[in-house]
Amino acid sequence: MTDVSSDPPRHQKVRCQKCGAVWAAFTLPAPMAELAASMIKMRCPTCGAGPSSLSLFGGSGGGASSPDAQSWPGLTLWLASGERGVSSETIVQTLTGIPALGGDPDRGSPPLDPADLRRCRLLLEAVPSLAPLLPMMATSSKDWALLVAHWAEICALMDEEVPDWRDPRCRGMARKTYERMKALRA
Ligand SMILES: [Zn+2]
Repeated sequence: MTDVSSDPPRHQKVRCQKCGAVWAAFTLPAPMAELAASMIKMRCPTCGAGPSSLSLFGGSGGGASSPDAQSWPGLTLWLASGERGVSSETIVQTLTGIPALGGDPDRGSPPLDPADLRRCRLLLEAVPSLAPLLPMMATSSKDWALLVAHWAEICALMDEEVPDWRDPRCRGMARKTYERMKALRA
């Protein structure tokens, strides 16, 4: 996991897609599980829209008004040559507004197995500024909320079962990780 402890605190802006209101919703870095729990209860302070209507505003600079891969160091390279899958593309589209999934929010999916989880983790390592925002995925669905609340736990399981998971030639089986991911969805 990326060490974010040296980053200066940053107010993360959130935009309501219903009324357009923009406000600073939370400060980063923040504990992953706590942030995930507060995300799913988040409401627009102006119109009261629920979490599925809210999106992050701008890139890591926090000020851009339109999605731009340049605001996220490492993202241009990942989009061009990273190991892409639906779940990792869902993270990019949700957190940055860049239409990695073709812009269709209904195509999105959480990681369903260790292979998906691996691609999500590779993305978060390739684009470290996305990692502290992962809890925001909790607003996408109940399954995402459960996964991000237990992210550290399932990543630790995967590290233990398949220490060389980053290697594209790795053929290790992460059975316990898979069972835990399935149990979190049930
Ligand atoms: Zn609103």
